[in-house]
Amino acid sequence: MSASTNNHITVVPGDGIGPEVVEAALRVVDAAGVKLQIERCEAGSRVFARGDATGVPQETIDSVKRTGVLLKGPLETPIGYGAKSANVTLRKLFETFGNIRPVRTLPGVKTPFSDRNLDIVIVRENVEDLYSGVEHMQTPGVAQCLKLISRNGCEKIVRLAFEFAVAEGRKTLHCATKANIMKLTEGMLQRTFDDIAPEYPDIQARQILVDNCAHQLAMRPEQFDVIVTTNMNGDILSDLTSGLTGGLGFAPSANIGSRVSIFEAVHGSAPDIAGKNVANPTALVFSAAMMLRHIGEGAAATSIEHAVIYSFEQGIRTGDMAGTAKAASTTEFTDTVIANLGKRSSISAQREHGHVKVPPMVESVECVRPGSRRVVGADVFLESVLMPGELGRKVESLVAGSALKLAGIANRGTAVYPEVEAKVGLVDHYRCRFLSRDAAKDADDSQLIDLMQRLAGELSWMHVEKLQQFDGEDAFSKSAGQA
Ligand code: NAP
Repeated sequence: MSASTNNHITVVPGDGIGPEVVEAALRVVDAAGVKLQIERCEAGSRVFARGDATGVPQETIDSVKRTGVLLKGPLETPIGYGAKSANVTLRKLFETFGNIRPVRTLPGVKTPFSDRNLDIVIVRENVEDLYSGVEHMQTPGVAQCLKLISRNGCEKIVRLAFEFAVAEGRKTLHCATKANIMKLTEGMLQRTFDDIAPEYPDIQARQILVDNCAHQLAMRPEQFDVIVTTNMNGDILSDLTSGLTGGLGFAPSANIGSRVSIFEAVHGSAPDIAGKNVANPTALVFSAAMMLRHIGEGAAATSIEHAVIYSFEQGIRTGDMAGTAKAASTTEFTDTVIANLGKRSSISAQREHGHVKVPPMVESVECVRPGSRRVVGADVFLESVLMPGELGRKVESLVAGSALKLAGIANRGTAVYPEVEAKVGLVDHYRCRFLSRDAAKDADDSQLIDLMQRLAGELSWMHVEKLQQFDGEDAFSKSAGQA
């Protein structure tokens, strides 16, 4: 990506097959003539086992801050409530906002799509969305996960995707969202994409709904070039695209930030094959090539990619793709790639990789300033086992005479009060929407506090959300079934 010439990097071998595939990648890099200055650090299961709930010790954080480049093996996420994913922690801590996941048809790696000449890159937003990790049990039986999407985050990922497309001489960039349902969050990426696309007239910019994108990827994947998408969509779509081209063993990734970038395989620690010298190191070797390009060692990166492809053309396969043929061990595969350094595939085209401009980190708190804004009411989330009619009448009596009126009640997003004909499955989690009785007037804090005082003694509330309008537009969604 950015053409640094600093060969000082941090390496985290990781869990499961991590140490085997990271070692393989480092051997290939060394044989390609790149002398890296390596700081070896820890993260993952052994760190969790020592009682560190982040899985990433301070020494590792300090090292990555120093080097700005991390090559890592997969890290296991302990099952249970306490520990967070060390991978997500690293991505968020260093604000690696863009996850670039390329896949391509590899010669001799047989899949149902082998004849389609695929060369697809998913550019996945990497630090926002449902993976922000802001979750609550709102009642003992109802969980909530906040899907946080910022305009700034969307701008950065969209720009990175366009810059990447330009640098690689790509033709088309699809923006895959679920903006038809999540108009504010997924819609934010869709709108940002439309705003920025005119700055890149040489790239065909196309919107696609993510479910259709998954369908099209299975039916006609060759129509795709680069796809930019939100975090969770990208997580799923990129596993899909790696499946199209041979599986997780072949899929590399780069987590790009303005100051730190992290290079790793898409796959996890594959504990079932760990320590057996059978893992496919291709994904980590390709990730290391992406890293080399990032640190200004583009010639070595290209040489390594050619050597891997040449090795496939010769027919060498690790167990994941060998079928009934004899499988090479991780070490044998790596030895073959090293022996083939300097050889070039005559049938598989190699793309030119230009310099990718990474959007810079802004030091101030980013905000969007609308021309006008007002507070028109509040949503109050209540835990109750009352039926909607009973709850509605109770709430109406509690707020009688206040500045805010009950506009409706919803249960898991479906309008249930004023009472509806349809039979709705109910849980003990209601959202009561209050709006100013005088629509021309704003709801001020004293009115909202008065509202809460009226409700609090009588009903159990979990959460209050102000309802705002920006530039005269409602900045909140309606309930399903709401007129
Ligand atoms: P996984 O580790 O990717 O493994 C799924 C299966 O894919 C493996 O059982 C293996 O299949 C195959 N596979 C993956 N990589 C391979 C390779 N290099 N060579 C050959 N086969 C490979 O997914 P998971 O089992 O869901 O996750 C295991 C752990 O990894 C979890 O703790 C998860 O949280 C973590 N994880 C970490 C990262 C990361 O660090 N970025 C990413 C994903 C998951 P066979 O059964 O056919 O051998």
